[in-house]
Amino acid sequence: MKKLFYGVLLACLSLYTAWGQNRPRIVDRPISFGPQRVLMTQQYMKERYLIEAPLGKIAPKMVVLHWTAIPSLEASFKAFDPEQLPAYRPELGRNGLNVSAHFLVDQDGTIYQLMPEDVMARHVIGLNHLAIGIENVGGTEETPLTPLQIKANAELLKYLKKKFPEIKYLIGHHQYTDLEGTELWKEIDPGYKTTKTDPGDKFVKLVKRKTRKLRWHPLPKPKH
Ligand SMILES: [Zn+2]
Repeated sequence: MKKLFYGVLLACLSLYTAWGQNRPRIVDRPISFGPQRVLMTQQYMKERYLIEAPLGKIAPKMVVLHWTAIPSLEASFKAFDPEQLPAYRPELGRNGLNVSAHFLVDQDGTIYQLMPEDVMARHVIGLNHLAIGIENVGGTEETPLTPLQIKANAELLKYLKKKFPEIKYLIGHHQYTDLEGTELWKEIDPGYKTTKTDPGDKFVKLVKRKTRKLRWHPLPKPKH
């Protein structure tokens, strides 16, 4: 009897452990992040958000979904890898920090981690100090986002929510201006905005449907 009891207990424990390690396969593919990029990240937060953040650290409260509008993984990676913003995007302002995201999901659903989740990536105006960015390869007419990407985004979100319980909000990049004037918004220049359509309502809705159990909070309302 005692043996049976311990047997059942062991089975339960191993099941629990397997569940606890429910981490999707994430491939490390770090973008260049030397002292220059760290410095530009700190400067970005200081100049745009009035936040002093040693090493560019953030406490994630939100995840923003994107598409790269670039058809291949390699070309998408190359867009984020350089530390400096290429000269062809002058609309992004004076600070030379290049755009990036924490994760890049290929069309086949493979998840690549580009940088640590708790360091600021430049991917969404006004909200970079609290938002993890997930980029999805594609979004062009020839390379629409795929069901495998929806599944991978959902698995990644479940993993992130477990790792950072303070994450409450999920938005698509195209919704970011809805947060202007709320307590989450930190951009000091009201004129600094770019129009975004990625990744679209349909993609966000499908990912939200797959992550319903995470109980995403409704977005806060503007303060005035
Ligand atoms: Zn975007």
